[in-house]
Amino acid sequence: MSYHAPMKTTASHRAAALPVWSLSLGCPKNRVDSERLLGSLGLPVKSVAHMGRARLVFINTCGFIAPAVQESVRAVLDAVQHLSRCRRKPLLAVAGCLVGRYGAEELARELPEVDLWLPTADLSSWPTMLAQALGLPSATDLPNAPVWGRLLSTGPSYAWLKVGEGCRHNCAFCTIPSIRGRLRSEPVAALTAEARTLLAQGVRELALVAQDVSSWGHDLVDKPSLLSLLDSLMGLEGLTWLRLLYLYPSGVTPDLLRFIRDAGAPLLPYLDIPLQHAHPEVLGRMGRPFADDPRKVVDRVRDILPQAALRTSLIVGYPGESEAQFETLCRFVEESRFHHLGVFAYQAEEGTRAAALPDQIPDDVKEERRNTLMELQADISESLLACEVGQHLPVLVDSVHGEWPGLHVGRVWFQAPEVDGITYVSGPGIAPGALVECDIVENTDYDLTALA
Ligand code: SF4
Repeated sequence: MSYHAPMKTTASHRAAALPVWSLSLGCPKNRVDSERLLGSLGLPVKSVAHMGRARLVFINTCGFIAPAVQESVRAVLDAVQHLSRCRRKPLLAVAGCLVGRYGAEELARELPEVDLWLPTADLSSWPTMLAQALGLPSATDLPNAPVWGRLLSTGPSYAWLKVGEGCRHNCAFCTIPSIRGRLRSEPVAALTAEARTLLAQGVRELALVAQDVSSWGHDLVDKPSLLSLLDSLMGLEGLTWLRLLYLYPSGVTPDLLRFIRDAGAPLLPYLDIPLQHAHPEVLGRMGRPFADDPRKVVDRVRDILPQAALRTSLIVGYPGESEAQFETLCRFVEESRFHHLGVFAYQAEEGTRAAALPDQIPDDVKEERRNTLMELQADISESLLACEVGQHLPVLVDSVHGEWPGLHVGRVWFQAPEVDGITYVSGPGIAPGALVECDIVENTDYDLTALA
């Protein structure tokens, strides 16, 4: 999808704003797809709280595991039911991984009330398909079209920057390659233009996302490295924090770590590396890297970038996971002392190799193992955060606290948006989007309290 810089909205454009009710389910990558689409319709868009007041109801679905499929179907059914009571019916458009997984034809048979299905195979066609369905001249057809930025939904402080689509790996438990296709990296010019636009809107933090950020450029001519992309982004005016999420373990190379170490601000020594497990046999059955030495990537990070904040994701209850193999995983978590940990109970997904494996683990055992790991991590997180009390750290303010007047919600550098803990902050001169120097005065298992 070619990217357009934002435009200054004039009175007539403001009057012509398209009222949209939108819901973006699933991951930050989906959120970016929604923001880009709603920012590329060739006219201003305003978000409305009530579907009945919208001209477009847009739902971007998730579908990589069964619970996400159920949530997405429920959201579409709720919209259909709600709109059936509206005198004037807005256009109902549904996009995303549910469409990618089951196909527009089959879904259209099940849900004929949906006006437009937007498949994941070709995101670049979405703006034109939607503009046509709305009876708008397609964005790209508008002569001297004003150019638009993303319809940001993450607030003034941070934005996700999606650097690629699809995945070049083939983990045995994962449906994503079959839903999103093979790796397609966004060109550096489009990404820097998009980043400049987001920073011009006041955003201070950019968090890079993709299925595997470390594979960026592998599919592009000349195979540019992730380091070259980081180099292009780091010099942009207004960028305070640049964060890396979704790094494939084998993509966390000594070169990347040294680059982060030597680059300094705005590039954060923050690494999200989904490892999925720590027992060689389980990693082998998952088709994941480092089955020979799961600790290798953590040791490499600790060696070259000891100050790094590490986040990872682990799967418990994978087919055939024995008590002993689970114990190995517990020891690994205890020794690795991750700042942040996401633990998922394995889901047997139709169409994956893992779903056909023998020795599927009962759900209650999966849940028990998940709770055991999360309890371990709560203690580790608490002890890491306790070390921050008494420190003086900058806090990026994301929003006003919903209930407590004068209190704001923000994050310190080692807290990623939406997935990690937060920092409650109060004091003079605080507003969403501001970076304020604070004293850290208190911690809980996952959160901090700070005074400006
Ligand atoms: S790297 Fe991630 S997105 Fe790609 S196949 Fe593996 S789990 Fe799925």
